[in-house]
Amino acid sequence: MIIILSSSATKENLKHVTQMLEERGYGVHLSEGVETTIVGAVGVPSDPSGKAEVMEQFQALPFVDKVVSVSKPYKVVSKQFHPDPTIIDVRGIKIGDPAFVVVMAGPCTVETEAQLMEAARAVKAAGAHILRGGAYKPSTSPYSFHGHGEPALKMLAAAREELDMPIITEVLDVRDVDLVCRYADILQIGTRNMANFPLLTEIGKTQVPVMLKRGMSATIEEWLQAAEYIASQGNKNVMLCERGIRTFETYTRNTFDINAIAAVKELSHLPIIADPSHATGKASLVNAVSRAAVAAGADGIIIEVHPNPEKALKDGAQSLLPEAFVKLMHDVAPIAAAVGRHI
Ligand code: PEP
Ligand code: MN
Repeated sequence: MIIILSSSATKENLKHVTQMLEERGYGVHLSEGVETTIVGAVGVPSDPSGKAEVMEQFQALPFVDKVVSVSKPYKVVSKQFHPDPTIIDVRGIKIGDPAFVVVMAGPCTVETEAQLMEAARAVKAAGAHILRGGAYKPSTSPYSFHGHGEPALKMLAAAREELDMPIITEVLDVRDVDLVCRYADILQIGTRNMANFPLLTEIGKTQVPVMLKRGMSATIEEWLQAAEYIASQGNKNVMLCERGIRTFETYTRNTFDINAIAAVKELSHLPIIADPSHATGKASLVNAVSRAAVAAGADGIIIEVHPNPEKALKDGAQSLLPEAFVKLMHDVAPIAAAVGRHI
């Protein structure tokens, strides 16, 4: 942390700042220029309030111009802490392996056994590795479908059995963590729950792999801090998922932030998955955005596929028909090869 004093700051003011730093357990490194005095805080605070609060305390002083943090507000998930990529093994499928691009696919929501199995068999035949399907669905409207709950988890488990495919499914509520952990190979945390800190903390106490979706209005730094909530509790099996953010654009459901794929690779060792289905909201755009994501370095993609999108209870407009998913797999493979990976 660096504290820049205002040009009118006096010797007394400087003394005040140094004392405050020492009281909080920091060492002091001083740089006195002609116009500005810069005070560097060295070491780790012993103050029980966190660093962000200490920064605010200094910012509250009238003779302080600016307080700047030099280190990142997350550690366990940062690349500095762990330079090698994290590879998460899910029943033998290696997510985050630099040689491999993982494909997760399936319906948005588990509707019926027939619908799930038709989608699951189709995505498996096309080469997908992991089956997706929601049993607990977040919904902007309280009147829409919220998922079948445990019966849907049982259907997913049966599909896993038949097709030998791991399953990813969303856990929406902290009260359901134990139950969903009994079925899921990967827990999904949805965009609306990225900042549900009690849920993140609870999932952090398990060892179940988790895919943390980016909050639709979250910065990359906030998203990494959310991942830090999980990892700092001991669950290091965290992957991130870029699913599009809110912008002024209305043609697409969200705006896919391709920057985030490259930025996460630069800042963190965690695997990054792209979700072109929710990012675009339009089946016609999913193929192109999947290719872009893989070209940018995504470790995987998650795609919504439905045998009958016009009858889907949720997200029909962005769901691919099985044929379109076959084409997507075919089109993404050479892009993966071009960046030195295979599917
Ligand atoms: C989903 O995966 O179906 C979903 C609800 O995603 P998101 O949380 O990104 O909206
Ligand atoms: Mn969906």
